[in-house]
Amino acid sequence: MNVLAPMPSADTPPAGDPWYLLQAYEAERALWPALPRLAHQAQFVEGLAALRDHYDAFLFDAFGVLNVGQRAIAGAAQALATLRRAGVPFRIVSNAASIPKPALVARYRAMGFDLTETDWITSRDVTAEALHACPGHWRWAVVAPPGADWHDLPLAQARRCDGPLRDGDDAVLFLAAQGWDEAAQARLEGSLRAQPRPVWVANPDLISPWEGGWVREPGGWCAGLEARTGAGVHRVGKPFGAIFEHALASLPVALPRTRVLMLGDTLHTDVLGALAAGLHAALVTGAGASTGLDVARASDLTGIVPHWVLPALGATSVPAASAARHA
Ligand SMILES: [Mg+2]
Repeated sequence: MNVLAPMPSADTPPAGDPWYLLQAYEAERALWPALPRLAHQAQFVEGLAALRDHYDAFLFDAFGVLNVGQRAIAGAAQALATLRRAGVPFRIVSNAASIPKPALVARYRAMGFDLTETDWITSRDVTAEALHACPGHWRWAVVAPPGADWHDLPLAQARRCDGPLRDGDDAVLFLAAQGWDEAAQARLEGSLRAQPRPVWVANPDLISPWEGGWVREPGGWCAGLEARTGAGVHRVGKPFGAIFEHALASLPVALPRTRVLMLGDTLHTDVLGALAAGLHAALVTGAGASTGLDVARASDLTGIVPHWVLPALGATSVPAASAARHA
């Protein structure tokens, strides 16, 4: 696991400090979609049941809402099962890009989530769509760990990139950051400075909280890459609109956007992205990126105001934050 020394500063934050994550995202604010004019205030509720009658469909983030690491968050699977039984449409909208969907679904089934491939809309899906629009003759350098599987992506010619680019590489796909390090990044950036080429980032997340530190995600490695190298960088996934449009289009009926609620644990991806897409947004604070966050202060700092704040999807006897700390 590539648990990082922190970014962007050299200070070591306490593991799980939500302000560190918030400030890392805010420092890159120019990357993110513009916030629409907001006229609401956040309301606090206990769980998904309190929101059920306000919306006709729900979109859920995965990491930090359904699970932390390899452990399901208490009550999450039951909350989704309750929606399913009631016939309420929902999708999981995730920046999980590193593995094909069958493997992703299997991982969540092992944690107790009765979800199928059609329930998931991932940044890998949206990346595949975007790659279809690229010239078919391009040769791709794919940043991914050894053995990574990208057979489901429309890459006619691709090789794994471990740092430096070759003369024949036409473009870079930054698919997964496992195993990537500063030395590999320096070699990649040196190649891009010498010959700028398009870079596609399949997960715009900057960093993710893990026990004992932070993991830098593809979006974190590529923050500021345009300015450093002259390469054109294309980010695909939350908070950018295509993944939300894909999710809405996948619902069984067309709905007014204000009747669709996105629930996630990250203010700058889930909440900002949903608001920019015209959806309603809820911040889930009991586990994941916003555990312990002073939401009112965070909204004052960023201007990003969720419609709702809740600790977890399910009302549980064990607080989700406590469960996460022991995960
Ligand atoms: Mg999340």
